[in-house]
Amino acid sequence: MSFESLTPSLADKPRARLANLPTPLEFAARLSARLGGPRIWLKRDDLTGLAFGGNKTRKLEFLIGAARAEGATHVLTFGAVQSNHVRQTAAAAAKVGLACEAILSEVVPIESAAYRRSGNLQLDRLLGARCWFVSDASAAQAQANQRVSALESQGARVYVIPVGGSTALGALGYVEAGCELVAQMAGAALSPATIMHASSSGGTQAGMAVALDLAEPELRLVGVNAYQHDVTALKADVERLATATASLLGVAFAGSIEIDHTQFGSGYGIPTHACVEAIRLVAETEGVLLDPVYSGKAMAALIARARGGMWRSDDDVVFIHTGGAPSLPAYVDEIEALGGL
Ligand SMILES: *Cc1c(COP(=O)(O)O)cnc(C)c1O
Repeated sequence: MSFESLTPSLADKPRARLANLPTPLEFAARLSARLGGPRIWLKRDDLTGLAFGGNKTRKLEFLIGAARAEGATHVLTFGAVQSNHVRQTAAAAAKVGLACEAILSEVVPIESAAYRRSGNLQLDRLLGARCWFVSDASAAQAQANQRVSALESQGARVYVIPVGGSTALGALGYVEAGCELVAQMAGAALSPATIMHASSSGGTQAGMAVALDLAEPELRLVGVNAYQHDVTALKADVERLATATASLLGVAFAGSIEIDHTQFGSGYGIPTHACVEAIRLVAETEGVLLDPVYSGKAMAALIARARGGMWRSDDDVVFIHTGGAPSLPAYVDEIEALGGL
């Protein structure tokens, strides 16, 4: 099957309209000049629009669509204390009138008052999510099972959304984003050398990879690991998810998955010097805010490649800005300590 057949197969799925689409593709003139090239383009998925936006909103269009089609009264999802996914899920649930339960794992070793109160957590609470705190992934599953039984015994129907919304259904949001980006690149007469973005639960990269594999198989897509110590495990997860996503659309996935592990630092949710430098550079040159957990690390990888002479100065490189800036206030102490203020 062809790339053109993707759009009609996407249109078959139940859908909640949550995002402002298409998001802009903007040329980052001052950032590109500051680095001496390549020509950097920002795909602004931080501007999807729902409660400060971000990449999860695209996945949630399909996931919330399925929840409503199944007659759910509640959604339940998972994340770290400063999860962007939980914030966007809470907002999506509020918008369509579903109750939201959030199981938040205290997996990031940051204990500051800001981390424990502000940023995404403050927003989850304002958006009406009921938050449950647990120590790790297995405790999160146990708590989820308990909440689902308790709610169902009261007559509720709970639609469970895994970490990051990264099911094959959720990843369809990024197949569509891939189609959207291909059309925008053609419109701007770009043939980029590389597309880069942050990768964690894998749905963004899997969906993009499925679309690009059919439309532009020569194009290089690089996910920057912000999540797993074991980079081979992340690659295998994304490959599995890309295969499942493609089969949901009746196509085969024949592409390969590339992960950059250079910016991982000491762990998930822990910013690095290079990440904070990238956040400052993009803020000062473009007036665009990246985040300390994902997009800052992904931009640090792009900057390291640019400085390492990987591209010609007139090559085009697309950076997918996946959002995340609402966590900046929660990281005020860490960013200050790394020289960001
Ligand atoms: C969740 C998230 C990512 C990673 O997307 P996945 O689809 O989970 O791999 C990247 N950036 C931000 C800001 C995120 O919140």
